[in-house]
Amino acid sequence: MLDWCQKQKNGKISLKEAAVDPRCNEEWRNMSSQQKGIYQARAKESKVKDQICAAPKTVLGETVKDVEAHERREKEFQENMQQYIKSVVLMGKKHNNLEKLKFIFVHVNWFFGRDVGINTYEFCPAEFALAEFSLKDGVTNIYHEILKMTIPLGWRADAIEFSQQTHQIPIELAEGQSDFCLMYNKLIKILEMNKTGNKFPPLFTIKELTPAVESLLIKMTNAGNGSIEDFLIYSVEALFAELRNAAVQDVDDQSIPLVVAETEFKKDKFSSVHDLECDFHKNIDGTSQYCSKAIVKRWGFTICDYCCEYLGITQINGVHCPFPQLYYHQDDQNNGKQDISNIDICLKNLNMVDRQKVVEMNGVSEDHRRKVSERNHNNEQQRRNLCKPLEIIDHSKPNIYMPSTTVANIPTRPLRLPKTMAQALNGVEENCNLFKKDDFPLIGGRGIKHKKQTTEIKFPLGRGRGCH
Ligand SMILES: [Zn+2]
Repeated sequence: MLDWCQKQKNGKISLKEAAVDPRCNEEWRNMSSQQKGIYQARAKESKVKDQICAAPKTVLGETVKDVEAHERREKEFQENMQQYIKSVVLMGKKHNNLEKLKFIFVHVNWFFGRDVGINTYEFCPAEFALAEFSLKDGVTNIYHEILKMTIPLGWRADAIEFSQQTHQIPIELAEGQSDFCLMYNKLIKILEMNKTGNKFPPLFTIKELTPAVESLLIKMTNAGNGSIEDFLIYSVEALFAELRNAAVQDVDDQSIPLVVAETEFKKDKFSSVHDLECDFHKNIDGTSQYCSKAIVKRWGFTICDYCCEYLGITQINGVHCPFPQLYYHQDDQNNGKQDISNIDICLKNLNMVDRQKVVEMNGVSEDHRRKVSERNHNNEQQRRNLCKPLEIIDHSKPNIYMPSTTVANIPTRPLRLPKTMAQALNGVEENCNLFKKDDFPLIGGRGIKHKKQTTEIKFPLGRGRGCH
């Protein structure tokens, strides 16, 4: 093909063009087997050469050298991240402003994710939330978007299925945001406010979401002419572990390792809290736990829950922890009613006095129930006086309540004979016939096999036409 390229237009045709050019194909077919043999030998030689020189590869086709380089980069990245978090928290502690330090949280929901290369994934985003967090002010300045994405052919079923199982955002939602350039500018605006020197602050998310966040940032930077290299995606679990360990340091020096912090953070203890979700998810039952906006708020609550107490920060409802009434729906709260669907959570948060009022959740107060349904003393006495003596009915004796004529006139007939042999009786007969003289012939003789005896029932009147 290279020779053919050289011949055509003085080598101005590329290999790619030559591969689809029918003239090249035709020329190859018209070649004699001798001419073809020269090229086939050349191809074989080149293949052998490649195999000798080729670097060892993994089963996925990537070179071992690349894999090792990737692992080295990953390890270095993890070390840098730990170093960054440690130094920031240490500085905060040293300058006594740990509670004022601001961190950026980001959470992404997606429709589907696919491999686009080795260790490279592309996620089709559905919703995201970005927020500032500090131990003093909790989660603030939230930037939230629901996206309208064009789902490529072949991925619609996956997108719909994943959406229905989780966040329930419809695909290609008309009201969704699709301008990535606009979203990039809004993101930059928030990050600019938290810049240290000329660097953007790292974006904290949970470990498993890193590829999804990276994928979203690539889409944004492509649209807004930015560079993905400007962004760092760090682990929120690592931040949680460091903040918690720094907070307890002065109280009881029991620091927890990262794995324990990760497990603790994963528990998502505020997952049942209502009214943290975005306007879209507020209207869809059972989706609040998946809402990106609710999730970043819950991350804030979790960190505050583990740190504020040790740092002497007074926890404010709605800032460091959810409002107690947020365990009920907003609408019910406005009407003065509490939510029955979350009765378990309500019960957990009731004190002893409130527990006595628990029936009010069903719309009936204890006082009202007593007033309406309880018997007073006079009623009770009256009921007891009216008591009749007990009547005992003995069914073994003729029914005294039925007129004697009716009893006498009931037509009676004998029961029919059973058509089958009772199991118990069958066994007895078999056992009785087991040991017969014929079954035990003399040695050298020929015995007969024991045959199960079938029992014949003789009907006294024979089988009639109607019998089976
Ligand atoms: Zn939402």
